[in-house]
Amino acid sequence: MLGPVILAASRSDQMRRFVSAAPGTKQVVDRFIAGETVDQVVPIITDAADKGLEVTLDVVGEDITTPEQAAAARDAYLELIERLKDLGLGAKAEMSVKLSMFGQALEGGHELALANVRPVVIAAAAIGTTVTLDAEDHTTLDSMFAIHEELRKDFPQTGCVIQSYLFRTEEDARRLAAAGSRVRIVKGAYKEPAEVAYQDKAEIDKAYVRIMRILMEGDGYPMIGSHDPRLISIAQELAHRAGRKLDEYEFQMLYGIRSDEHLRLAAEGHRMRVYTAYGTDWYGYFMRRLAEKPANLLFFARSILTKG
Ligand SMILES: Cc1cc2nc3c(=O)[nH]c(=O)nc-3n(C[C@H](O)[C@H](O)[C@H](O)COP(=O)(O)OP(=O)(O)OC[C@H]3O[C@@H](n4cnc5c(N)ncnc54)[C@H](O)[C@@H]3O)c2cc1C
Repeated sequence: MLGPVILAASRSDQMRRFVSAAPGTKQVVDRFIAGETVDQVVPIITDAADKGLEVTLDVVGEDITTPEQAAAARDAYLELIERLKDLGLGAKAEMSVKLSMFGQALEGGHELALANVRPVVIAAAAIGTTVTLDAEDHTTLDSMFAIHEELRKDFPQTGCVIQSYLFRTEEDARRLAAAGSRVRIVKGAYKEPAEVAYQDKAEIDKAYVRIMRILMEGDGYPMIGSHDPRLISIAQELAHRAGRKLDEYEFQMLYGIRSDEHLRLAAEGHRMRVYTAYGTDWYGYFMRRLAEKPANLLFFARSILTKG
């Protein structure tokens, strides 16, 4: 019940100001956000690599309102890629991008987002890594898939994300699995209406299993984005039945969530990629993490009350 309320609050400027200024916020934010700068995130990438983990990096900041901010977002990724190149970490770190951050919601946004993301994809390829386009709310997806298709003409390894809560997703999965691209399947983190999305957790989970089966049996590279132990073991079973080797799919989890499970799966020989978000504009990302687990909100409220 609390989830939709928190997701609605994630769109409120007033709430953003309150949460950002609250005295106990930083302590809770630090659990989910790896740092504010490239310098702070580099040790986290090297530490992950030492532990046999890979990462996908998200420079947070989806709520931009001008083309200049969109260009700055592009430059932040280019700076990150340059650092990864200097450190020789290209093979261990890929990028996750939100097209909203690259200007997708602005006037002429589809072309603007494509123009901003392309140099990032080119720079990533030059250091031996890839970019995955995150899935945002359902109104943005046709544009995201069109940009994905366009980028794949030159960079077929460009990935995208699909969300099991949306009715449309099984069809998207069939198209993408046949095309052989890298596809991350997640449950979905936005507030979506009943006209387009399952509202019931059990239905979302059942759809997730159906979609995983499509991806595992297809020609693409499935990326299983979930912390749900039941879905993880079903993924292993489906991969086994589809005759996939351990390097023919991967698991992905978020930084700060079930970290012991990251290590357990990596120790079993799985490729495990940790979605690592960093930057100063963490509000939207943080609120989605609160919405996913009501206990996080209680922890957050307690931390505000004790520090306040
Ligand atoms: C790598 C990755 C990339 C993602 N990219 C996208 C994207 O592009 N678009 C999108 O809409 N969504 C994205 N998501 C979020 C996703 O849609 C879900 O909201 C999120 O993963 C929670 O679903 P779950 O599968 O972990 O299952 P759940 O049933 O929500 O969680 C299973 C268990 O995991 C733990 N857990 C899950 N979330 C939290 C949390 N926030 N805090 C503490 N514990 C938690 C709990 O123990 C919980 O019982 C991504 C998720 C991952 C892992």
